[in-house]
Amino acid sequence: MKTFVRFARYAVITACFAASAAPTQTFKIEKGQYVPFDATTTVSLACPDPAAAKWLQAHYKEWYGDYAPKVTTGPSFVVPPENSEGYAAIVDETGVKISANTLAGTRWASYTLRQLAIAKRGTFKTEGYILPKLTIEDCPHLAFRAVHLCWFPEVRPQQMERAIRLAALLKFNYAIIEPWGMYKSEKHPWWSWPQANLTKSEVKRLVALGKDIGITLIPQINCYGHASASRGCTIKHSALDIHPEYAPLYEPDGWCWCLSNPETQRVLRELIAEMHEDFGNPPYFHIGCDEAFGAQSCPACVKTPHGELALKHFNGLSAFLKTRGARAMMWHDMLLEKSDPRWAGFIKFGRKEASSILAGLSKDIIICDWQYWDKTKDKDGKDWPTMTYFADKGFSVAGCPWMNYKAMMPMAKHLVKINGFGFIETTWHRLRGKDWENMYKLGAYAAWGSPVSHDVSFQRSLRLVGNDMKVTDYLDTGYLNNQVPPAWWAN
Ligand SMILES: [Zn+2]
Repeated sequence: MKTFVRFARYAVITACFAASAAPTQTFKIEKGQYVPFDATTTVSLACPDPAAAKWLQAHYKEWYGDYAPKVTTGPSFVVPPENSEGYAAIVDETGVKISANTLAGTRWASYTLRQLAIAKRGTFKTEGYILPKLTIEDCPHLAFRAVHLCWFPEVRPQQMERAIRLAALLKFNYAIIEPWGMYKSEKHPWWSWPQANLTKSEVKRLVALGKDIGITLIPQINCYGHASASRGCTIKHSALDIHPEYAPLYEPDGWCWCLSNPETQRVLRELIAEMHEDFGNPPYFHIGCDEAFGAQSCPACVKTPHGELALKHFNGLSAFLKTRGARAMMWHDMLLEKSDPRWAGFIKFGRKEASSILAGLSKDIIICDWQYWDKTKDKDGKDWPTMTYFADKGFSVAGCPWMNYKAMMPMAKHLVKINGFGFIETTWHRLRGKDWENMYKLGAYAAWGSPVSHDVSFQRSLRLVGNDMKVTDYLDTGYLNNQVPPAWWAN
């Protein structure tokens, strides 16, 4: 028997993650000691929510078919008492016992066991499963754990669904969906590419799927910079390249929205309302606002101080979202003055009026501080002063790494220390290959707050979600669409 880790007490970060009985994490997996996990197995579930047993039985049927274990209700045992997502599990010769406070905790328990279950050995086809004997007490140290996913025209929708399903399996509980011109608005069809495939029905299907598997989808619209809905290095523009008649809504080069035009706020509110409704009115909506270079380049915008225009725009969108019961999330970089020596070595693009914008910014807005370097000024990545700065000003702040893998766990621990809002793993155009694996795997362990386990295989987890989708196309398998670039065979 090997004890993987026994974590020390965690800091208190939210009311539901509070206080007196700070949770511990314990993982004891008995190597090579397997017991049956099939129709002969009884899974005893203790959960106050009666929906949990029904959910578990239905999903066992979906995952294991005729070999689904039988779910019964049983007595509660060790569960972090204040942690709504915590769970405990015991697997031994008598069967499986799960204890959880909520359906969410039940889901995470079932996902952990699913990642560890393998097909019974020695037969032609699967005739049941086996699980290692284990004892687990587990809970996250951050309540908000998201992936940020880019729905590029070049990415197959099947891959986006696999990414959403895999994020849930790895216990992320939110996915921010940035559509990159692929959301098919009915109110403003000119806004997106003609081939937009993120239709209302597709959004609703994915939102319902997310609800079932435990991940809430958060829509995003870039409401300031990145208004082209395309990467800057392409100079594509999802609206103006095909519909130049909408030019007054944007600054002349199209990268930023024209903030002095009252039609801009009207259009954005209509798009936000439409998308928010399609996404099932989630509690958050990401308004983007990063890299707003070239803002205020038009003759109308220059008449008003930039800080005044920007603040009115941000707070207007935040207030509108509040009327819809949601909080705005926005990227941080325009809120830090780029010449301020305190942020040397950190990402910041704000003008000199950045601090005055922050001073007037609505506290309803959650600031998403994206920092993509491994080493910060203190060299070991433990200190994230920009996040502390926002938190000290009274803002909810989320830390957002990308491929800076070494920074992920220290960043997450720093967020716990400063009572931060949460953790957002960004993925951008790198949701493929080993990058996908590393971003998801290392991001998930950091967000949850547990050490990387070699008992959980990324490739098996990715295959499970493909199996759940019943994929049949070669392109929808593995973490690359093709194993050899098709162009190699062109000549
Ligand atoms: Zn303008």
